[in-house]
Amino acid sequence: MRPFEYLAPDCIEDAVAALAENSADARALAGGTDLLVDLKHETASAGLLVDLTRIAECRGIEESADGLRFGSLVTHTEIMESDLVRRHAPSMIDAARTVGAVQTRNLGTLGGNLVTCVPSLDSGPVLVALDAEVTVAGVGGRRRMPLTEFMVGPRKTALEKGEILVDIVIPRASLGKPCSFRKFGLRKGQALALVNAAAAVNLEDGKIADARIALGAVAPTVVRARKAEAALDGKAPDPTLIAEAAEIAVTEAKPIDDFRASAAYRRELIRALTGRVLNEAIEQAAG
Ligand SMILES: Cc1cc2nc3c(=O)[nH]c(=O)nc-3n(C[C@H](O)[C@H](O)[C@H](O)COP(=O)(O)OP(=O)(O)OC[C@H]3O[C@@H](n4cnc5c(N)ncnc54)[C@H](O)[C@@H]3O)c2cc1C
Repeated sequence: MRPFEYLAPDCIEDAVAALAENSADARALAGGTDLLVDLKHETASAGLLVDLTRIAECRGIEESADGLRFGSLVTHTEIMESDLVRRHAPSMIDAARTVGAVQTRNLGTLGGNLVTCVPSLDSGPVLVALDAEVTVAGVGGRRRMPLTEFMVGPRKTALEKGEILVDIVIPRASLGKPCSFRKFGLRKGQALALVNAAAAVNLEDGKIADARIALGAVAPTVVRARKAEAALDGKAPDPTLIAEAAEIAVTEAKPIDDFRASAAYRRELIRALTGRVLNEAIEQAAG
């Protein structure tokens, strides 16, 4: 690893000022589970690491008028142990539980997961299915956007130079919304997803409403299967309808062949996982 300067500011304003002043080679540091791996490679370097972990505003999980707020520094373990998350968005716990191993979950943060923005990121599908929004801050101020706009492509977000991710909010309308998450990897632990999927639905008079289907690892970033969602809304759930929606979802993804799985195998997984998460979310809504 090449030498670097290190700074640990205790407020967002100082962090973004340091990142902006050194924009050519400064990097934000949270848990370090992605960044330090990168920096150990000969080609990667950073002149300055701006450690965010002393910034209180980026910590904690709270319920507010807006919804459920996660500071970007919240770790996967903190999500798993939170009563608020268990009450309002338990599928976040199911997703956090699948990230790496205990050590990775203890250090790795929700913000770091979203900023790294690999297509298989495990926190993405549930947050997209629950219409999450994010706040980012830079020297010019703050802006809020839907998570779907924040995740732009593989390892690419809407963050501009010098900006940091401050928090992630699941809006009040989505709190308690029935939602299911499934991940399929080549092993149970320490495996990236070949496909991960989340579905969220409401049931109104026995008919599906506000359906959301979010798929990971099958496109440049997490995608919503909007045509499949539209095919569900306003209809009473039955096995044929769910199978049709899963079939449509397959057409909305763009899986690739790589060393871990073929695109054809991933399409089979999309079909199976979409059906499963939809059935589970509908069962929760009915129960
Ligand atoms: C062994 C191992 C297994 C893993 N398994 C999984 C897995 O199963 N599923 C999965 O999804 N991921 C997995 N990961 C990836 C990683 O652990 C997660 O993405 C983790 O959440 C990253 O968070 P972090 O705090 O460690 O990020 P860091 O490494 O600190 O940062 C990652 C990137 O985000 C930037 N960054 C971090 N926080 C902010 C912020 N608030 N604002 C702006 N930029 C920021 C950094 O500059 C860096 O570019 C694994 C990693 C390892 C090493």
